[in-house]
Amino acid sequence: MPNSLLSLAEARAIIAQCVHLLPPERLPLAAARGRFLRETLAATEDMPAFDRSAMDGYAVNRDDASIEFRIVAEIPAGVLSERAIGAGECARVYTGSAIPPGADQVVIQEFAQRHGDAVTFSSRTAASNIRLRGEDAREGSVLIERGTRLVPIELSLLAPLGVTTPLVSPRPRIFHIVTGSELVPPESTPAHGQIRDSNSTMTAALVAESGAELIAQHRTGDDLDELLTILQGPPDTAWDILLLSGGAGPGDHDLGLKALGALGFSVLLQKLNLRPGKPLIFATRGRQIAFVIPGNPLAHFVCWHVVIQSALEMLARGCTEFGLVNATLGGDSPLPGNARETWWPARLTWDGDAPLLLPLKWQSSGDLTGLAGIDALLRVPSNCPPITPGEKLAARLLRPFAG
Ligand code: AMP
Ligand code: MG
Repeated sequence: MPNSLLSLAEARAIIAQCVHLLPPERLPLAAARGRFLRETLAATEDMPAFDRSAMDGYAVNRDDASIEFRIVAEIPAGVLSERAIGAGECARVYTGSAIPPGADQVVIQEFAQRHGDAVTFSSRTAASNIRLRGEDAREGSVLIERGTRLVPIELSLLAPLGVTTPLVSPRPRIFHIVTGSELVPPESTPAHGQIRDSNSTMTAALVAESGAELIAQHRTGDDLDELLTILQGPPDTAWDILLLSGGAGPGDHDLGLKALGALGFSVLLQKLNLRPGKPLIFATRGRQIAFVIPGNPLAHFVCWHVVIQSALEMLARGCTEFGLVNATLGGDSPLPGNARETWWPARLTWDGDAPLLLPLKWQSSGDLTGLAGIDALLRVPSNCPPITPGEKLAARLLRPFAG
């Protein structure tokens, strides 16, 4: 039974094989934030490109044992001075100034006494106080590998390279439809038997957080014609991923499989050894992919974090890493095992400076109450004995490190 279901790892491997990398685009630096670099970039020149002073002081030749040095040049940062420094001479330099020919040491200004246009030094240490040409990177050395996410450090590495329109991943375009005849918009008051739709809000927020683009979002009842009308109509914009929320199960009113069949999708995954989220469906049609996500909000959330997010990364980056950390279980009660691999919501707490993950109250996969402040999902392997507080387990951190 449950163990004959496909494991999450197997499902992730199948998805990784079926997802095609989207073509890259070139974007200005500011717009490229959060995208994956789709080219490997190397230093186009030595970095720094010239010997630079690391301090405010006086540039001299380190072998020059003169008592007094005549100041023959004043070199603010950004100014080129070709005047060579000879014996008994120095140049006034500042942090970032180009070191003139003949000098190979900067004596810091704290050791200097000025006498008009000459200077004496109370001390000369061995430090050169110079950042040598090529010290950070040699021309041609790789600085950023293809596939790196462009966040502030990486973006600011591109600027000195003069790369102002890097080749980056596009935003995967998502078409999202929530199905369920019981659903009403959050602004409506549900009649008896109805509920407010929370998955539209959750999915829009997850998509925004992931950097993907939600090109259209609809809500419909459990009515195949209505669903197909939406799917076959606008948006005119092409989309890469179809997300159907709800209707993943085998029930009479579950439309996921029927809709995918009518649209010509091939179903590649159906039912995983995953809790919550077992009914998740994955399908492809050419280069487009589709997921039917079980409607229970927690199942929705877990499927997004352990499966769908990786599919987005495959589309944008061409590979995906499942970043799990080895965490310590907090709280007072053991975490029960289950026949199915379980992803348990948790919150980060601290025991002194040691991080602990505290399981959150979770009654059913439809339950989101008690989940405010969730930081992580804890992995309880299939058929695992209860995990006691203090034991280690794998966790997927959702904030701030989730990829
Ligand atoms: P389904 O996957 O369609 O069988 O739905 C499973 C459970 O999740 C049912 O109790 C639904 O009422 C609930 N559900 C489905 N869609 C949503 C939604 N958009 N917002 C909140 N709950 C939902
Ligand atoms: Mg339903």
